[in-house]
Amino acid sequence: MLTPAAFEPRGKLPPRDGSSRLRFWSVRHARGLERLYAAFERVLRAVAPLARKIGLERLERPVAAVEATVKGALFDCRMCGQCALSSTGLSCPMNCPKNLRNGPCGGVRQDGHCEVYPQMPCVWVQAWEGSQRMKGGEAIRTVQPPIDHRLKGRSSWLSVVAQAAPAPEAKP
Ligand code: SF4
Repeated sequence: MLTPAAFEPRGKLPPRDGSSRLRFWSVRHARGLERLYAAFERVLRAVAPLARKIGLERLERPVAAVEATVKGALFDCRMCGQCALSSTGLSCPMNCPKNLRNGPCGGVRQDGHCEVYPQMPCVWVQAWEGSQRMKGGEAIRTVQPPIDHRLKGRSSWLSVVAQAAPAPEAKP
């Protein structure tokens, strides 16, 4: 059964076999990828002043395209624009057909698979397993705010940059 969801790319089918998708590999290697992202975030913060000078809006399209490619491959990212991976064991919550961002629904099957797509491991079972491998895994207990659909397609990386180098008028 296919149930379209707000962040379901058109024509993209749910995985047939959980073991064959790179995103499940990413969850299994959450600790290493967490370290890698920490290093990448330091780079983002370091280049933030330069990016601010160039203009974040000008950078939005190319950076979002690179982010979609990299995170699409590693996490099946749906470009929600407000990345929660660090709080979800590197299991992207937008792959949940119900787009749940705060834990599983009540329909998880006994084998840990999804109620809607029985062939797919539940995103939130994966999230818990990934979080147990991460140093910052406790973040999974943090309640996520409701999704802001206006940010769909925008770069989460540039949000990090924007926070690291606030616009001049936003400075205290
Ligand atoms: S939480 Fe959003 S930005 Fe992060 S991987 Fe999932 S869709 Fe992409």
